[in-house]
Amino acid sequence: MKKTLFVTDTFQRPIRDLRISVTDRCNFRCTYCMPKEVFGPGYQFLPKDELLSFDEINRLARIFNSMGARKIRLTGGEPLLRPNLDRLIAELAQIPDLELAMTTNGSLLARKAQALKDAGLDRITVSLDSLDDAVFKNMNDVQFPVKRVLEGIEVAEKIGFSPIKINMVVKRGVNEDTILQMARYFKDTPHIVRFIEYMDVGTTNGWQLEEVVSAREIIDRIQAELPIEPLDPNYRGEVAKRWRYQQGHGEIGLIASVTQPFCGDCTRARLSARGQLYTCLFAADGFDLRQLMRRGTPDSDIEAQIRTIWQARSDRYSEIRTENTSTGARVEMSYIGG
Ligand code: SF4
Repeated sequence: MKKTLFVTDTFQRPIRDLRISVTDRCNFRCTYCMPKEVFGPGYQFLPKDELLSFDEINRLARIFNSMGARKIRLTGGEPLLRPNLDRLIAELAQIPDLELAMTTNGSLLARKAQALKDAGLDRITVSLDSLDDAVFKNMNDVQFPVKRVLEGIEVAEKIGFSPIKINMVVKRGVNEDTILQMARYFKDTPHIVRFIEYMDVGTTNGWQLEEVVSAREIIDRIQAELPIEPLDPNYRGEVAKRWRYQQGHGEIGLIASVTQPFCGDCTRARLSARGQLYTCLFAADGFDLRQLMRRGTPDSDIEAQIRTIWQARSDRYSEIRTENTSTGARVEMSYIGG
């Protein structure tokens, strides 16, 4: 077996997690990620031949694995819009020492969960921003009902995906009054709701600091009815802070990029759907790895290039975020998948 040649950045952070966007397309228009005003009719998504092929994704995944990546998360846009995704998962599942996860909006999950499981997918995270149908439809902005996402979660659970993580982005004036409803619904189940502070990802969501509901406030809202206590992290670099219910069972997570930044342990590299390497969710530019592959560059040279990029990495955007930094250029989240 090929020896792993780990690489660390200027803060001694290794590459542990690789997030791969397999498409820039989505069937939702979540207002904090892909607002209709920008991603409306006529928006030019990447043509098929501009997307990384499954072979190219598999090749890069093996290179990153040989440098220490132990978890791959497939994202989008909406990854289940990429045809035959289970074929890619079956290839990636051959890579040793690799956990395969996927983040989806759940709209196609009921139909595709079995094929994903059979192909070797280990874990699923479903984005669901409210259980209140009107609020959810308003946030996904395509009038997609909560019921169909819950059906996807139920089918996935029956097939054996558990725990399923549920991501809820909380935005003031939009869905904060439905936090408790979400907590009550998944309490005493194996599934883990992660409440996410609204972030200034990309440059199209009109982010304002006052629209952020802090992790502290979210905890206080839940604590008022459902007593919770903090838990230790499962591993270094875990994004969510863990809390468990004191009565009954179950746990929740808080992802507080704005009020409690966690850049110090950030081990995440990101690949866009067209093969650019981004070293931070809030980066402006990425490095084009697809071009290297398509002009015949050998793996060893591509690995050397990634090593050089990562060793020079000094990203810690969330730690230096101010109202001014949020006016700068940043890649769109739908392009690199959160
Ligand atoms: S802001 Fe960038 S460096 Fe910080 S945790 Fe997020 S992705 Fe990592």
